[in-house]
Amino acid sequence: RVVVVGSVNLDQVIEVAALPRPGETVTGGPVLRLGGGKGANQAVAAARLGGAVALIGAVGSDADSAALRAELAGEGVDVGRLAEVPGPPGHAVVLVDAGAENCIVVSPGANAAVGEAEVAAAREVLGAAAVVLAQLEVPMAAVLAAARSAGGTFVLNPAPVPVSVPGGAGGLPGELWGLVDVLVPNRTELEGLSPLDGSVGSVDEPVGPVNGLPTPELRRVAWQALALPCPRVVVTLGAEGVLVRDGSFVELVPAPKVAAVDTTGAGDTFCGALAVALAEGEPLAGAARFAVRAAALSVTRTGARTAMPTRAALGSAAPG
Ligand code: ADP
Repeated sequence: RVVVVGSVNLDQVIEVAALPRPGETVTGGPVLRLGGGKGANQAVAAARLGGAVALIGAVGSDADSAALRAELAGEGVDVGRLAEVPGPPGHAVVLVDAGAENCIVVSPGANAAVGEAEVAAAREVLGAAAVVLAQLEVPMAAVLAAARSAGGTFVLNPAPVPVSVPGGAGGLPGELWGLVDVLVPNRTELEGLSPLDGSVGSVDEPVGPVNGLPTPELRRVAWQALALPCPRVVVTLGAEGVLVRDGSFVELVPAPKVAAVDTTGAGDTFCGALAVALAEGEPLAGAARFAVRAAALSVTRTGARTAMPTRAALGSAAPG
């Protein structure tokens, strides 16, 4: 099965005509309260696609926390190892303007309390999981502990990308680089993690792994992925699809052309789907093709979780 180690948030979304400037007060629409957090969202995405999923993390001790836990359980996510700590759950306050531009403040709440102890309590499920999937909205100590305990494939979505840490390469602790089996950054996160900046001169080398890629921009992204100290990398590229690096081999998996309505949660849908396919034994490129189809469907509907497709909606029983 898939074990997700990550955040649970209550998202409070307010639509405004224009985002406020510092010192300004604006009046917005009603407050929409939605279950969120990258960990919880990716767990829901995986569960909708038929994965057996457990979530390791923490919620608070209030009524909002109980509702978040119940919602996850209702999605079929095993919340038996979701800790309860005193205080509020994580919150995200999201302002969205008429042009869909947003401004987000995250208050970690209970997510900040996820540490080695919570992860150690789940050592057995982590050891038995086919795939352990983590993001960076819980403390690094918890992510590291999960990576050490992962018995199967450890997948890291390095979001949000951290600022550089001492002794680490490109923002991640050196030890973590050695434990990540598959890294799934978007283009911004890749920029933050790769030792190569986006303007490397080697993009037009006469012979090399990136020659099959159609544009100089994609070849540049490929070189950045190849420079990471992690042999398997999937870079998400929005409407373009994903770039898969497997060792020294690089391949573009294009996204199907769809009428995009709302891309919120596309990355979370992609990560959840990738984890499900990997847990079913699919090789990396095949898993990426499955996840690209799931993520494309998710952008044709509004909302993050509401838009996540079921296995039936994907119209195929097997990944790939
Ligand atoms: P994030 O939202 O984390 O920045 P991306 O924008 O790269 O991530 O989106 C994640 C994945 O969702 C993409 O790699 C792609 O597979 C899919 N996706 C995003 N936008 C579209 C789109 N407009 N059309 C089809 N697929 C999309």
